[in-house]
Amino acid sequence: MFKKILIANRGEIALRIQRACRELGVKAVMVYSEADREAKYVKLAEEAVCIGPPPSAQSYLNMPAIISAAEVTDAEAIHPGYGFLSENADFAERVEKSGFQFIGPTPESIRLMGDKVSAKQAMIKAGVPCVPGSEGELPDDPVLIRRLAKSVGYPVIIKAAGGGGGRGMRVVHTEAALINAVQMTKAEAGAAFSNPAVYLEKYLQNPRHIEIQILADKHKNAVYLGERDCSMQRRHQKVMEEAPATGIPRKVIEKVGERCVAACKRIGYRGAGTFEFLYEDGEFYFIEMNTRVQVEHPVTEMISGIDIVKTQIMVAAGEKLPFAQRDITLRGHAIECRINAEDPYKFLPSPGRITTWHAPGGPGVRVDSHVYTNYFVPPNYDSMIGKIIVHGDTREQAMARMRTALLETVVEGINTNIALHRELLVDAKFMDGGTNIHYLEEWLSDHKR
Ligand code: ADP
Repeated sequence: MFKKILIANRGEIALRIQRACRELGVKAVMVYSEADREAKYVKLAEEAVCIGPPPSAQSYLNMPAIISAAEVTDAEAIHPGYGFLSENADFAERVEKSGFQFIGPTPESIRLMGDKVSAKQAMIKAGVPCVPGSEGELPDDPVLIRRLAKSVGYPVIIKAAGGGGGRGMRVVHTEAALINAVQMTKAEAGAAFSNPAVYLEKYLQNPRHIEIQILADKHKNAVYLGERDCSMQRRHQKVMEEAPATGIPRKVIEKVGERCVAACKRIGYRGAGTFEFLYEDGEFYFIEMNTRVQVEHPVTEMISGIDIVKTQIMVAAGEKLPFAQRDITLRGHAIECRINAEDPYKFLPSPGRITTWHAPGGPGVRVDSHVYTNYFVPPNYDSMIGKIIVHGDTREQAMARMRTALLETVVEGINTNIALHRELLVDAKFMDGGTNIHYLEEWLSDHKR
C-alpha cells in the first residue's frame, strides 16, 4: 500500500478521498487554491499545499503545480477525484512520467474512452449494446450523411466525438435540417473541443439514464456493482440518483453488467469506471464511459457495502480486487440528493457565507459534504456543496428517510435546491418510479414560479 497520496481536487470529493486514506492508514496531502484556504479538510489535513489563485485554470487544473506539490511532499500517487483533471489523459501521462501512480486507468484507456467515436467502436467490438448510428466519424459527403440518417431513421442526434458535459450535441428531426446541423455541430466542436469530428446516432425519445458501476484491478479481474438510475436531470446535469433502478428485471441488468465487465477485461481497464446507458423499451444503449469515480458513487456503496474510493486506491497500489462477482450482493435501496448552492427554481448560483448548516442524521443517512456553519462558498467552482444519501430496505423506506433528512437539513445564508428536492420527493409520478430523462424538465415547466 502507498504511504502517502496527493488528492488533486477540492470540496466534498477531496474530503471523501481524505476519509478513505485515513481508513487505509495512508497519509493524504491536500492541495488547495487560495479560495479554499479555510476549508476544514485543508485545516485538518496532515499536509496541505497551496497550488495557486482561485481560478481553476491556475490551481486545480494547473498540472505543473500539482505535480510539484507531489514532489515536495514525497507522495507516491495522485488521486484526481472527479471533474478537473480526472479524465485528462495528458495529466495521467505526466503523473506517471514524473514517477507517481495515477489513481485511475491508464492514459491509453482514458484516451480511448474520452473520444466518443473510439469508445463506441471499442464497445461494439466488446459486444456492449450501442445506439444505432454511424460506425465512426461522419464522412464529409452530404449524400452519404443523408443515406445514413435515413437508414437510422429520424429523429437523429449529431454528437461531437470530443464532447462532454452535455455540450456538442444537436437533434435533427428532418432531412432538410440535417446537413446544416452537421456543419454547425462540427464548427462548434472544433472551437470547443479542438476536434471537429462528429458522429450520428438515433435520437431516443423517452429513455432513462441507467449506468453500470465497475471496478477492475491490474490482474485482469473486474466486477460490476449493479446499476444506478440517474434519469432526474436538468440540462443534462444529474440532480438525484438512486439504486437499484425501478422496474428493470435483474436478468437484464446482469446481462449488460457482464458485457461491461467483458469490455473492461478486453481494453485492460483498471480502477473504477462507469458505463452510461440510455434505457428504452427494455433495451440498453451505451452512450459513454466515465473513467473516474462519479459524484453519485455513494448510492452504490450504500447498497453493496463496498467502499469504491478505498478500492480505487487499493487496486492502484497493485492489490487484487478483494471480491469476485459472486461475492457481491446488493441490499435495499439508496437515493442521493445533490445539494447545490443555487436558487431552487431559477438555478442561479448562490455563493456566499453559510450562516447556519445543520446536517441530518439517523439510521441509513449519510452526508458527504465539506461545508459547515460560517463556511464561505466560493464563486469560482461548481455549485454543489454536498450530497445527502439515504438507504432503506425498500424504495418507499428510502424515500421516507430522504423526506425526513431534507426536513431536518437547515442551510441559511445562501440559497439551495433543498426546496426542489422536498417537492420532488412527494411527487406522485416520481414516487411511482421509472420516470425518464425528460421528467424533471417537464415537471419544472409545469411548476413555473
Ligand atoms: P456528455 O458527455 O456531454 O454528458 P452523453 O453522450 O453522455 O454526453 O449525453 C448526454 C445526454 O444527452 C444524455 O444523458 C441524454 O440525455 C442525451 N443524449 C445523448 N445521446 C442521445 C441519444 N442517442 N438519444 C437521446 N438522447 C441522447
